[in-house]
Amino acid sequence: MAELLGYHWLFLLFAAPCVGSFLGVVAVRLPEGRSALRGRSACPHCGTRLGLLDLVPILGWGLARGRCRHCGAGIAWSYPAIELAALAVAAWSLAVLPGWLAWAGCALGWSLIVLAVIDARHLLLPDALTLPLVPAGLAVAWWVDPAKLPGHALGAVASYFWALPFVLRRIGRKLRGKPGRPFDGRPSERPAPKVIPSEKIKG
Ligand SMILES: [Zn+2]
Repeated sequence: MAELLGYHWLFLLFAAPCVGSFLGVVAVRLPEGRSALRGRSACPHCGTRLGLLDLVPILGWGLARGRCRHCGAGIAWSYPAIELAALAVAAWSLAVLPGWLAWAGCALGWSLIVLAVIDARHLLLPDALTLPLVPAGLAVAWWVDPAKLPGHALGAVASYFWALPFVLRRIGRKLRGKPGRPFDGRPSERPAPKVIPSEKIKG
């Protein structure tokens, strides 16, 4: 058993693209308020459920040449990109962090990937993803050096619950010239775009 545990890095490298595949689903479904665990992945254009071959991380997208096998519609390149990024995070964590700490590095890196994707698409950092990082970070800090835990806890309270959201909201309001969106995990409602009749455009 101890020998097998010595190969945990190999498991991490093989699991990383599969985790990346899951992260891609989370990045799409979480802002829509849908569960990432329920419901099989399907083509967003024709609704056909993806087959086992399509679900193989990185390779599935490449073998199908980035297109749905059923209707031929393009499948976003972001899916294999997120899977590759998850693999890169695992390789980097294993390279720079000793032993089992690489798992903590992966957990943080993978969380940041999905946060970055949702932020880029929706200007949103869902609480469901950011808040668990606080206790997780404190647990890792305690694991590495229990004596320094009070300092880390103080830093987390000071920065996360007060200064950081305050500063980000102020910057967000200035950049967009409007009130910042709530950090509640759901995109705020947008007014429907106004449709101008073509006769009016022609004058
Ligand atoms: Zn399709």
